[in-house]
Amino acid sequence: MKNLTDTLTHLGEDHKKYFNAVCPPIIQSSNFIFDTVQELKDAISDELNHHIYTRGNNPTVNILRQKIAALESAEDALVTSSGAAAIAASVMSQVKAGDHVICVNKPYSWTYKLLSNLLTRFGVEVSYVDATSVDEMRGAIKTNTTLLYLESPNSLTFEISDLRACAALAKEHGLVSMIDNSHCSPIFQRPIEMGIDIVIHSATKYLNGHGDVVVGAIASSKEIISQIFNNEYMTLGLNISPHDANLVIRGLRTLELRMHRSDETAHKVVTFLKAHDKINKVIFPLDPDFPQYELAKTQMTGCGGLITVALNADDKASVMRFVEAIEKFLMAVSWGGYESLMIPSITFHDMPGVPDSPIPWTYVRFYIGLEDADYLISDLEQALDKI
Ligand SMILES: *Cc1c(COP(=O)(O)O)cnc(C)c1O
Repeated sequence: MKNLTDTLTHLGEDHKKYFNAVCPPIIQSSNFIFDTVQELKDAISDELNHHIYTRGNNPTVNILRQKIAALESAEDALVTSSGAAAIAASVMSQVKAGDHVICVNKPYSWTYKLLSNLLTRFGVEVSYVDATSVDEMRGAIKTNTTLLYLESPNSLTFEISDLRACAALAKEHGLVSMIDNSHCSPIFQRPIEMGIDIVIHSATKYLNGHGDVVVGAIASSKEIISQIFNNEYMTLGLNISPHDANLVIRGLRTLELRMHRSDETAHKVVTFLKAHDKINKVIFPLDPDFPQYELAKTQMTGCGGLITVALNADDKASVMRFVEAIEKFLMAVSWGGYESLMIPSITFHDMPGVPDSPIPWTYVRFYIGLEDADYLISDLEQALDKI
């Protein structure tokens, strides 16, 4: 990775181009002017590297692209209108009718829908495998497999895939490997340095970090980024607005600080939860009791703020009492912002016409934001008393 401090503070910014302003301007323009036909021609033949039209390229968005590429040790990056857009564009760029994708079990919900519903309509097959087993991945490879899709740690129960082994497996069989790296952010895990081909982010989470923008990112080689840009990105119209890009640039200024704060507080909350008799299990990849702790340590330098617990509750009513007694963790989807959040698995049980979630109803996922550890622990303590 390039120097982290320099990336977050300066990379991609050129004050001389904008009146020596400290903060880069928001170039809120849909299109850009040319003096000669030749200049316009040259630009159109290489739109990724010229400012023609903001659906393709915009100076404010480009600052963000450069920072994200550097953070992920990638040659280039694209910023998209959502994490889901980044996933869909990247996956679609690597498949055609008749191809087969191997994906880890229970990926992010809209990744699952992309693979199981949308792409099957276009003749793309998918197999889901145990994220913890490289042997199972190897066994799932067919002659038409083109893509290995990973999410490590995985959603909700945080299974870890051995990224170096997965990258080697993909290379050996000519597959493209891809990972959703939203959980760790590039502060704590850099898959491209371990041989993975494409990294995507829900930048809505840590990269922006303030709960006010929906945004995604794709980081990869120049070749893959250019291929995605010229096909999926431009045709589907996946760009974000310069305004939103500016908010994410601002969010990145504190990315390193925020990640370390969330991570340190999460460790303290984990220590409290593990000692509490109303908690059956705490799932946190960098806790020594986590089954894949040793592997996690070889590829993650931190964990961030996501913690899942299994409550020691005999009935659904006591789970409800706990959840509704919590005051400081807001009950909401998403995570990665300044504010602590929680989402109980019980939400996804007993929904009319929908199969129950495979995650037991005693599970609750917490996200630790930037608040003080004692402030959060005392809230958990009073709510646990209600079980
Ligand atoms: C939120 C999330 C996404 C989707 O990102 P959006 O920005 O909401 O489109 C993808 N993967 C993971 C792991 C997420 O948490």
